[in-house]
Amino acid sequence: MMNRRQLLKYLSIGTAGVATTGMTWNLHSLVLAGEKKGKVSWGYIGQEGAENWGGLSAQFLSCKIGRSQSPIDLKSPISSDLTNLKTNYKSSPLKIINNGHTIQVNYESGSILMLDGEPYELLQFHFHTPSEHTVDGKSYPMEVHLVHKSEKGSLAVLGIFLKEGQENQALQPIWQKMPTKQSKETTISNIKIDAAALLPKSQQFYRYYGSLTTPPCSEIVNWIVFKEPVEMSRAQIKQFAQIFPMNARPVQKLYRRFVLESN
Ligand SMILES: [Zn+2]
Repeated sequence: MMNRRQLLKYLSIGTAGVATTGMTWNLHSLVLAGEKKGKVSWGYIGQEGAENWGGLSAQFLSCKIGRSQSPIDLKSPISSDLTNLKTNYKSSPLKIINNGHTIQVNYESGSILMLDGEPYELLQFHFHTPSEHTVDGKSYPMEVHLVHKSEKGSLAVLGIFLKEGQENQALQPIWQKMPTKQSKETTISNIKIDAAALLPKSQQFYRYYGSLTTPPCSEIVNWIVFKEPVEMSRAQIKQFAQIFPMNARPVQKLYRRFVLESN
């Protein structure tokens, strides 16, 4: 959610003097109004679709006026001496939920991604179809997002493209327990999953700074997207698409950002 200081930052772009003060007050009131209403319903098509997220609630304002939004088309990356990613993932009992927007697997604490010398803990991973990021305008059938959070509250999300090929064994236990309807979290203690098994062999990745790809579109995400896609079967893709035919936000403008790639 956007606080007053963030709003002021946005409004300082392209506005000046008296007008700024007036608009700040109005938007601040909108934020307060939105807070009182509680959960705002959103989706991927029609009135609640991605093009309209910014107008659904003042809490979603970043979706409309943010200048560091995700996903993006990954093109013309700048080759850069990025340090290798270090992950220390443990297995976790399968905790799965259909939250109405995606299938999400919540992860037991204690699995870590090191980024810029800082530990980020793996909280959950979830899926989109088609992929949210594109590479030179090309999308993949699916994309998985592994969401990590640092102690300071910033996020690091690993994005992995999924393409059609061999059946993905790491996904199979999740696919077997996938709830077709929106539901509360279910824990299946005798099934252990391992997030490390979702990662591609190659460490090559893109990196840029962006946002959550769902409302409130907060601009707090270190994005790492692996270049090498991993495979899943046509049947696995189809099974997910039967529950969520389309749950991907369209690509957003880059504005003043750069995309880096590991060399
Ligand atoms: Zn996602």
